[in-house]
Amino acid sequence: MCGIYAYIGESNSTGDIILQGLKKLEYRGYDSWGISIVVNGKIQNIKDIGSVKKNLEFKDSHIGIGHTRWATSGNITKINSHPHYDCTKSITVVHNGIIENFKKLKTELLKKGHVFISETDTEVLSHEIEEELSLGKSLEDAVINTFNKISGINAFVVLSLKYKKIVGITNGSPIIVTSNNDGTYLSSDLPSLSKISKNFVILENNQLVKINKKGFKIIDTITKTEIIPNKIKAEIDYTEDTLKPNETWLLKEIEQEPDVLKLILDTSLSDINILTNEINKSKYIYMIGAGSSYHLALYFKYMLTKLGISSEVFIASEFPYFIKTIHKESLLIAFSQSGETLDILDCIGIAKSNNMRIVSITNSIFSSLQRKSDICIPINAGVERSVIATKSFVATLSILTLTYNNLNKNINAGEKDIENAINTINNILSLNSHKKFIDIARKISKYDHLFSLGKGQSFPIALETALKIKEGSYIHAEAFNAGELKHGALALIEKNTPCILFAPKDSTYQSIISATREVKSRGAFTIGITYKEDPIFDDYFLVPYKESSWWIVSTIIIQILAYHLTILRGNNPDKPRNLAKSVTVR
Ligand code: GLU
Repeated sequence: MCGIYAYIGESNSTGDIILQGLKKLEYRGYDSWGISIVVNGKIQNIKDIGSVKKNLEFKDSHIGIGHTRWATSGNITKINSHPHYDCTKSITVVHNGIIENFKKLKTELLKKGHVFISETDTEVLSHEIEEELSLGKSLEDAVINTFNKISGINAFVVLSLKYKKIVGITNGSPIIVTSNNDGTYLSSDLPSLSKISKNFVILENNQLVKINKKGFKIIDTITKTEIIPNKIKAEIDYTEDTLKPNETWLLKEIEQEPDVLKLILDTSLSDINILTNEINKSKYIYMIGAGSSYHLALYFKYMLTKLGISSEVFIASEFPYFIKTIHKESLLIAFSQSGETLDILDCIGIAKSNNMRIVSITNSIFSSLQRKSDICIPINAGVERSVIATKSFVATLSILTLTYNNLNKNINAGEKDIENAINTINNILSLNSHKKFIDIARKISKYDHLFSLGKGQSFPIALETALKIKEGSYIHAEAFNAGELKHGALALIEKNTPCILFAPKDSTYQSIISATREVKSRGAFTIGITYKEDPIFDDYFLVPYKESSWWIVSTIIIQILAYHLTILRGNNPDKPRNLAKSVTVR
């Protein structure tokens, strides 16, 4: 989602440096973008809605800030995109987060005569800082005082024309700084800085960074004293991947899944042992996630249940309401692909104050979640650029599956199943240029409603199916537990309503076949993801049953189907409308 990138240094190509930086943030999802650079003694703003422009002509500049916005306050317009000036155009501000009390602050500033150009909450920052500077405060004090007036989780970065300086501040949203011989760089995303240096400083909450050509200093906003920051060394494998004409990240990332699974088999065993150990020693286990990550947590609950291990799963944003029922000194397993999901980070704060031990499972080492966890299990899926999560989901699914096997003292069986799955998936991916997927997608793409039904371990996969289909195709896709069908959902089935049903070789099989019969006799078009052929399905994908890989292969089938539905409905598979990759606001 929203992103910040800033540079100050010897290079006079600041505009290009920031544009390239913003391009690296694109994978997080955004709706508009903007840059401020200092040219001929003035701050020049360049901004627009849509994708970050390529090949813009910039005048020479040594200092600048940029932003990718995911609108929260005010429409998606050029005017609302960041950076935002103060009245005198001597500072500009970029901001990630939501200023919860901005209306009150704006009213006060309007009374003092400030003129607002945009509808954003962000613009109060520029005018508050202007107000503080007019009282004779230093830039740092003006920024700290403004920061202390706002509520919510926010990071913002200020470019000052007068001081030729950039100042950043945060109380949760990430800000990372690094420097090399060319200058100093700031970003909200560590991988975007991986080519600049191997040493980084990640701002802690309530810290301010001031950067000039010579380097940077960190100030504690409470004591207002300089602190020597902890530098972290990070080798980040950020491959500068590009798309060929007509390629999409979504399909490319689905096609990378066999390699991701292979990498997990080759490298993740020690992490799986750690997770196994944490589960074995915990009396009470709670799990949280949001969106696809919630489905993963729910899936793991079903697996743990098969081993007689009880656990509780919560949608992250609901977890705080249950805190009174949580056993202290229990284990919290937090799932977040980005490691920056604010709902999850909120839960971590609550969990820590309840003495819970925190194990995170994330695709972002060095994320806020990793730093706040006792233990972090990386999922090693590589950078995922499509907003629609695919390879990160499958990677986590396989780590959970292997952990299940490990808990069951039979990791070899899991590894063997996943090795077999890799071959099956490779076959599926190369099969007749996806003819079967395209045929089925054509049959169902014209309908506005679609249902996916699963039971037991398949239920979270049915939930994920509905999510993938709705995110890309904008079809109203909804998952039901097959057992719930007769309790209401059946009323929604009409002639030709597409229904996807999961029929593995386990104790749920007969119930799924009965559910298929029930929807079919109301006219539904039934698509089975099944381990054996059955004429009850109008169409089906056959997935050979293996206890540890059936759901992994089934998920990949659904992802490919969702991709083709997205293309047939004419949507952008990499940037679904209104969505962002990491949800760093509430
Ligand atoms: N709340 C700000 C806005 O709507 C920042 C959004 C963001 O984090 O991108 O402009």
